[in-house]
Amino acid sequence: MMKMSSQLHHAPSAPLCHLSYSQVQIRAYNKVNKECYPTLKNRLTGATIVSQPSITLYGAHWCPDCRRSKQFLGEHQIPYEWVDIEQDAVAEQFVIEKNDGKRIIPTIVFGDGSHLTEPSNAELAAKLGLKTSIERRHFPFVVLGGGPAGLTAALYTAREGIDTLVIERAAFGGQAAGAEKIDNLPGFPDGVAGIDFSNRLRQQAERFGVALLQAQDIVRVHGHDNYRCVDTAGGDEFSAQAILIATGSRYKRLGAPGEEKYVGAGIHFCATCDGPFYKGKEIAVVGGGNSAAEESLLLTKFAGKVTILVRGDSFKASQVIQDNVLRDPKIEVRFNTEVQEFLGAKAKLNRLRLVNNQTGASDELPVEGAFLFVGQDPNTGFLRQSPIRLDRWGFIVTGHDLVHDGDRPPDYERREPVALETSMPGVFAAGDVRAGSTKQVASAAGEGATAALLVREYLKRV
Ligand SMILES: Cc1cc2nc3c(=O)[nH]c(=O)nc-3n(C[C@H](O)[C@H](O)[C@H](O)COP(=O)(O)OP(=O)(O)OC[C@H]3O[C@@H](n4cnc5c(N)ncnc54)[C@H](O)[C@@H]3O)c2cc1C
Repeated sequence: MMKMSSQLHHAPSAPLCHLSYSQVQIRAYNKVNKECYPTLKNRLTGATIVSQPSITLYGAHWCPDCRRSKQFLGEHQIPYEWVDIEQDAVAEQFVIEKNDGKRIIPTIVFGDGSHLTEPSNAELAAKLGLKTSIERRHFPFVVLGGGPAGLTAALYTAREGIDTLVIERAAFGGQAAGAEKIDNLPGFPDGVAGIDFSNRLRQQAERFGVALLQAQDIVRVHGHDNYRCVDTAGGDEFSAQAILIATGSRYKRLGAPGEEKYVGAGIHFCATCDGPFYKGKEIAVVGGGNSAAEESLLLTKFAGKVTILVRGDSFKASQVIQDNVLRDPKIEVRFNTEVQEFLGAKAKLNRLRLVNNQTGASDELPVEGAFLFVGQDPNTGFLRQSPIRLDRWGFIVTGHDLVHDGDRPPDYERREPVALETSMPGVFAAGDVRAGSTKQVASAAGEGATAALLVREYLKRV
């Protein structure tokens, strides 16, 4: 194999029509412009070895459909190899050959030799065998989002005989699936790889007969008589007596090169979760608000040194916290500083390229880890047209917080909302998407279980 690949390297002008599919694959694989994703098996065992995936995505960096396909595969935790045809003439020829003389990207080649050209997400999902449709349109209980909160709720209700559907747009497991290792989950004394935990949750939900629908984006929640309805981007509508919204949130990113590559491999968003991995090490914190300052103080309990990188020329954190930060001997603060690029080796972050936004001077900061505290976006865009009340950041308001501020929702004139119930009776919210939630796996699962028990009681009344 090696001999064949080095021969190919030295004979770039060899006619491609004579190269077999596997030869071209090997050729492309040896180019530097490849990105490999850990196979499921490796992720399950927590090993860091990266083996060759069986899907190859041929595209170019400027191509929006290539980015969409990359995102789809990434979100579904499906390993693939990325080949930029603009940096690889052999791969480009291969794509042209596959598409009857046309240079069309993305072209996605599968392990069995078959390929799809410019596939929609639905076509890609069907090819990958994801369950993207279901005959039944009504369930007593429908859960939106298949993360720890949603799957825990679903397995509770299904176990009690309540037919339950979970609708998920990406891979089951939610954000937890992206955690390299979850160390703070009760019952796992040695920690657990996020992907392993997510697979277990899904298997457990399946064991209790939860109906799982994947690769379906929820676009609307609305009420119709006594029913609660959900529309998907694929054009399907599902009705239910009760709904749980457990669509989580997304930590804001900086958008700097290298960032997506090192999330979970040196880039983190939670000091409580991942701080203990950095005992005695040098790390960076990005952000200038209260959470960045508070979490930096927490991180000094573990790290040898914490460098806080603040984009502006001062903190936005409260004065007391700022004073504590500036007094701490383990903390160095760099104002007017932005991360230009995340750099690393062997699939692990090891330094940041920084730029001073006043002087333009740039330098590199060696770090073992970087914690980003630049805010969170709740996944509630699909609620914009609904009467479900959101707080000013877009998180869902529930329970007695709905009536606390004197602005009682019209549907609660005659009764109080129960905990986790939203301003639309019969629609509940749990986990990271809920205003006031604590953004942890254990608490998301706990809220999911609580929501399931509340839904059970609610269903007895309707
Ligand atoms: C890299 C990383 C590491 C972490 N490590 C830890 C840790 O070690 N310990 C810990 O306690 N916590 C950790 N967390 C936080 C933890 O993962 C979250 O608190 C937890 O997953 C929240 O669960 P959830 O079910 O509320 O939401 P999520 O996990 O966010 O799940 C929500 C699900 O809803 C789906 N969804 C969203 N919008 C739609 C839509 N419109 N249509 C269909 N589906 C939709 C999403 O795809 C997702 O699967 C980590 C988070 C990250 C990102």
